[in-house]
Amino acid sequence: MIRVAVCGAAGRMGRLIVRQVASQKDMKLVAAVDVPEHPMMGKDAGLIAGAQKLGVNLVESTKLSEVLKKAKPHVLVDFTVAEASVQNIKAASRAKVAVVVGTTGFTEQQRKELERTIKRSGIRAVISPNFSVGVNVFFKLAREAAAILGRDYEPSITEVHHVYKKDVPSGTALKAAEEVAKELGIDPEEIKIKSIREGEVVGDHTLVFSDPFEALEITHRAKSREVFAAGVMRAIRYVLKKGKPGIIRDMQDVLGLR
Ligand code: NAD
Repeated sequence: MIRVAVCGAAGRMGRLIVRQVASQKDMKLVAAVDVPEHPMMGKDAGLIAGAQKLGVNLVESTKLSEVLKKAKPHVLVDFTVAEASVQNIKAASRAKVAVVVGTTGFTEQQRKELERTIKRSGIRAVISPNFSVGVNVFFKLAREAAAILGRDYEPSITEVHHVYKKDVPSGTALKAAEEVAKELGIDPEEIKIKSIREGEVVGDHTLVFSDPFEALEITHRAKSREVFAAGVMRAIRYVLKKGKPGIIRDMQDVLGLR
């Protein structure tokens, strides 16, 4: 049985992850963590998630290290905010617990800090700005299109998300820019990203390659957040079976798309 802890368990993604973990035959939720001031603090994580009672109450993030020691999870899943996520991953590193991280908005410095922490502690990790299968195929198509079209075509990205999203541009748009830039041998900052925050949009990304005579567009639309939670279940199994100590893998590795 894979023992799973969830950080950000009362959030939009966290609740879906709790629900999906509860419905997997080979997984068990052993800890659910959120900020101390959360109105659902102390309540059953299953009920918060709109599922059955799971006998795991929401606990305060300030007690994370203690919780990890007691609950002994194999994997900590983190969908919170960048700053909190860095602290949570440090706690997981100290407790030698593997991590699956979906949080976005890390600065370059935070990203480097994570790499150092994970390398030093030797824990296994999957960190990905997007856990959907479709988006990861989108990244692969982006690399292939960039390789074929080359620098004669100007790449640009438009992303649309719900109004509650905290980071701009989206982690997915930044990752797409990185993938294309690597292929073209340019700086990711040279690729224009337009961000739109609108209604309840789960997440749309369009990559355009344009020259004066034509434009090629690749679009992905997430229809439901469940798609990310389903990807997280695959990443949990992958990180324990195929993750390498001290090395950060992403969803491209999980899906074998590299
Ligand atoms: P949300 O605001 O609904 O949920 C975040 C939760 O984290 C909140 O309940 C908040 O109280 C909690 N939190 C904050 N600090 C914490 C801490 N120190 N410890 C524990 N919990 C803490 O946001 P969301 O829509 O669920 O998104 C969360 C993150 O996941 C964002 O960075 C978002 O961009 C990212 N995201 C990634 C993917 C992906 O596929 N990788 C998909 C959707 C969202």
